Amino acid sequence: MDSFHSYYPLPSRLSVSDLCDAIRRGSIKAEDYMASTLDRIRRVEEKVHAFITIVEESTLLERAREIDRRVRDGKGFLGALAGIPIAVKDLICTKGLRTTCGSRILEGYIPTYNATVIERLEEQGAIILGKTNMDEFAMGSSTEFSYFGPTRNPWDLSRVPGGSSGGSAAAVAALEAPMALGSDTGGSIRCPASFCSVVGLKPTYGLVSRFGLIAYANSLEQIGPMTRTVEDCALLFSHMVGRDPLDSTSVEPPKTVFFSKKDDAMDLVGLKVGIPKEFFGEGIQESVAKTVRKALEKLESLGAQCEETTIPSIQYALPAYYIIAMSEASSNLARYDGLRYGLRVPDRGYGWNTIFAENRRLGFGPEVKRRIILGTYALSAGYFDKYYLKAQKIRTILRMEFQRAFKRFDVLAGPSMPILPFKIGEKVGNPLEMYMCDVDTVPANLTGLPALSLPCGFRNGLPVGIQFMAQAFQEGLIFRVAYALEKSLDLREEPRL
Ligand code: GLN
Repeated sequence: MDSFHSYYPLPSRLSVSDLCDAIRRGSIKAEDYMASTLDRIRRVEEKVHAFITIVEESTLLERAREIDRRVRDGKGFLGALAGIPIAVKDLICTKGLRTTCGSRILEGYIPTYNATVIERLEEQGAIILGKTNMDEFAMGSSTEFSYFGPTRNPWDLSRVPGGSSGGSAAAVAALEAPMALGSDTGGSIRCPASFCSVVGLKPTYGLVSRFGLIAYANSLEQIGPMTRTVEDCALLFSHMVGRDPLDSTSVEPPKTVFFSKKDDAMDLVGLKVGIPKEFFGEGIQESVAKTVRKALEKLESLGAQCEETTIPSIQYALPAYYIIAMSEASSNLARYDGLRYGLRVPDRGYGWNTIFAENRRLGFGPEVKRRIILGTYALSAGYFDKYYLKAQKIRTILRMEFQRAFKRFDVLAGPSMPILPFKIGEKVGNPLEMYMCDVDTVPANLTGLPALSLPCGFRNGLPVGIQFMAQAFQEGLIFRVAYALEKSLDLREEPRL
């Protein structure tokens, strides 16, 4: 074990990579690790509420024992993630395991199939621990819009963990799971990663199959890894990628997406880092800006050259994102009528039109309804050109501006979130303020580019994240930069729970 991890004395603090080695060697039993994970969950879950559903203890322990049997007998395929528990955001379909999307309308929904990522990770021996809390249908930045109640930030239980993958981030930060899956349509991996001080990657569009991901806005979203270290993030990611015949937008990963810490002498000499000034624009908290700038200085001390630049259309990214995301959502969510699956109101002799309306009235929360209405409006005749088409044009311009920037810079950097984690209840009543949180994350979704949030420090005991973006399929480069910075920052804080 290298020095970065060796200070973690408890098994629940081991990195995924170290844990994999230990389980394979037989020096840690998968069953013991699972038992200690369950013990940790028992102790902190009541405070944090990261999960909507946890798999039954006996099933989890039996799955872990099966891995131990294979290690002992030296027989049977031992996957690269053998025996490692994983927490899965509750919009990724898991066969036989309830998948609610944080919504009442899917409260009792049990998928009959697995998402492709789940198939891949289980093939490698990962064990699904449970399904994590989220904003209903992934619409939100705080995990407060969950039918199942909010998740709390492990660093300060009176604050939000970010969203919409808040349960996944909180589970990893609170040491309830060594790794997790989230999804990111406009920042839903990077926002909670930043607020909870974990690593989160929104992959290049197409690298991870979306088959079995319950859709919010198809053209923007990707499933991605959430972990405590960059190395773990790269490891988990490497087992998620790949072309999938069941998702026509998926592609074969080029070599550039992979990362091995052995490949790199960890200095960053000659690396050109662009800092779009728009990322530090209106609404950014001074304390966040300061912490990120300090991290950028660290990056320079490792040999990188940081230079301010401009991507003017970033100022239009947020409105363009919300028009496109809501438009796609209004169409995607039309399928929830309660006729084939999902919430079904009791039959009181209504006509089907009323049943349909009642199911949706009772099944969807207020934020989801708001978005269906706004999205339908933006797509309606007479307004389509004015809103939807215009947003798509902004998307094209943004893509071109980013391409231009990447002619000069290897990576772009800035804050992941403009603000520190806020108090529970502070923004729920103000949708525009909530949307404003996403200014720095949505450009990566509109352009399809990869982006990672790395913990870079604390202000008043609250986490701050730095975001790195690169050209499509340059995840390997992002990992390399983030790994170097992570080592040099050497953050060792832990939430007190
Ligand atoms: N906060 C953004 C939204 O509400 C992003 C959500 C996401 O990435 N799923 O749309």
